[in-house]
Amino acid sequence: FGRPDSPYFSYTVYKPPFVENRNNTIAKSCILMLVRNIELEGALQTIRRLEDRFNKDHKYDWVFLNDEPFTLEFITATSAMCSSSKIKYGMIPRELWSVVPDHIDMEEANRRMESMEAQGVLYGGSLSYRHMCRFQSMSFYKHPAVLEYRYYMRTEPDVDYFCDFNEYDPFKLMELKRKKYGFVISMYEYEDTIPTLWESVEEFIEETALKEGTDEFAVGDGFQFLTDDQLIDRGNANNMRSAQKVVDTLNGDYNLCHFWSNFEVGDMDGFYRTSRYNSLMDYLNLEKPGFYYERWGDAPVHTIAAMLFLNKTEIIHFDTLGYFHAPFGTCPLSENTRLQQKCLCDPQNEYNIDIEPHSCLMKWWKNGDGKRFLV
Ligand code: GDP
Ligand code: MN
Repeated sequence: FGRPDSPYFSYTVYKPPFVENRNNTIAKSCILMLVRNIELEGALQTIRRLEDRFNKDHKYDWVFLNDEPFTLEFITATSAMCSSSKIKYGMIPRELWSVVPDHIDMEEANRRMESMEAQGVLYGGSLSYRHMCRFQSMSFYKHPAVLEYRYYMRTEPDVDYFCDFNEYDPFKLMELKRKKYGFVISMYEYEDTIPTLWESVEEFIEETALKEGTDEFAVGDGFQFLTDDQLIDRGNANNMRSAQKVVDTLNGDYNLCHFWSNFEVGDMDGFYRTSRYNSLMDYLNLEKPGFYYERWGDAPVHTIAAMLFLNKTEIIHFDTLGYFHAPFGTCPLSENTRLQQKCLCDPQNEYNIDIEPHSCLMKWWKNGDGKRFLV
């Protein structure tokens, strides 16, 4: 750790005056970007926007991760653009990125990638995209550079934040309200990328319950969000339910709703680092081939896990934060909000997914308080 040829090479830039950011939240929080050196320009654009709209008032640490060593050019330019005193650059070891489990037959994976590419599936033929999605699903929170933080905000190159956050600090809010997952955009996933994800989760539930020698399985109260079929189980949300009952409940088809993960805020200790989350990830990675034979995205993986392991009251929709990641965005509907937060967006614009049929937001709000479907 610390040497450029070490798999855990990590480099930290400290800018004076060094003030460790502890005044906003009790727990430590960071802004995290997985990025390639060639994306420098887009990374700078994102940093500039997020600093102007939010972080210049808070100075949360930035963490950049890459599967290759960052260039000096990248480190110099990005660290200059960040307002925080501490900016970390972590290299992702191969074990967390490109080492695939033994049960994956790479020839088979290649055949499937070729055929998905031929069918026109987005990133259907890309192996690196699959490594990325798997890393964002089950590894980012394990990286040594990220371990010191409890909360994280994910960002990406070339995204935009339409509005000032003002006093709205997602980290602080999540800590105060004990939220574990926050999102801004929700929509339907491409079915071709996850044909067997849902059934794999069902099998996990059945098998976990069996392995633990109990037929009981704790489940969050949000499952109605994930299926358009009427759920049968109306049990108390906080109760343990029998695994069979959960699976019967799930037997509705997955409606493909997911939270867009390119902007998300998470309580890593309270969600990603829990043994339940990681046992699901181990199952999906070690027992099922879908990260490579299909093209499971981290967004549906995060979402299904959140609905499985969290209660709906632990999930928050940030409805006043304007955001854009091509080709979709979200813009606060309230004119008052837009004026007060100096938004540069128009909710009538076609990029505003919230008012489009392929948004899942209405479905989220319909079942929003987690009580309404417990008739
Ligand atoms: P999309 O948003 O699904 O279209 O995918 P992106 O190309 O934006 O990738 C998602 C995130 O992962 C972005 O932050 C990218 O910079 C990052 N990313 C994707 N592929 C790689 C890769 O091979 N190496 C690294 N270091 N980052 C990657
Ligand atoms: Mn992206």
